[in-house]
Amino acid sequence: CGIVAYIGEREACPILLSGLKRLEYRGYDSAGIALINNHQIHVYKTKGRVQDLEKKLQEINTHAHSGMGHTRWATHGEPNDVNAHPHTSMNGKFCLIHNGIIENYMVLKEKLTRRGYSFKSETDSEVLVNLIEYIYLKGGIDAETAVRLALTKVVGAYGLVIMCSDEQDKLITTRKGSPLVIGVGNREYFAASDATPIIEYTKNVIYLNDDDMAVLRKDGLTLKTRNNDMLAPDIQQVDLDI
Ligand code: GLU
Repeated sequence: CGIVAYIGEREACPILLSGLKRLEYRGYDSAGIALINNHQIHVYKTKGRVQDLEKKLQEINTHAHSGMGHTRWATHGEPNDVNAHPHTSMNGKFCLIHNGIIENYMVLKEKLTRRGYSFKSETDSEVLVNLIEYIYLKGGIDAETAVRLALTKVVGAYGLVIMCSDEQDKLITTRKGSPLVIGVGNREYFAASDATPIIEYTKNVIYLNDDDMAVLRKDGLTLKTRNNDMLAPDIQQVDLDI
């Protein structure tokens, strides 16, 4: 339902929480964030409101310069803590937030189960994060290539932000049939399902097209097609009253 992500020099957690609050108007049943620090991905999530998530985080050291947050509107699996996003792969290499529906998730889930994968949630999204990890570990390839290959197997609609614990300096973002906007700051980047969480930090945005893939690092962005061809980013100015 709602997506917000950050990579840069500021503390990520407050940016994600205020971004999730700005996305609350869309409606949702649960909320969660993932933070990456020292090659470790930390996930905090809960059924309920962003405020409930915020309470959970009060006693926790949330120090990180990169992270992502999600508000879920359940399509596959009831609203509960486990089905809330982000979802982490079985071996902990990948973490993802997903808007939309993976239509062929049952077939993919059966294939992965036969290859030894097990699942914690009932979501379609957890199947995708495990598919990415499976391809990554099998192929000896980088995270971006693993995401690209995994998505050739997927039928459905998605806005995605993906983290890899081996490549903590980047966020991988892509979409098909579900909107995703990139915010271009000064040595910092944002991604969100609409511009509302971004505009207080930067007015420079890139609207991703279907099948575009943007890899965000604090000091730069690469924009490519799903076939790995470079694209020149079309940076536009948003003008919204906040
Ligand atoms: N299909 C996913 C789920 O049910 C994502 C739903 C959403 O867009 O929030 O968890």
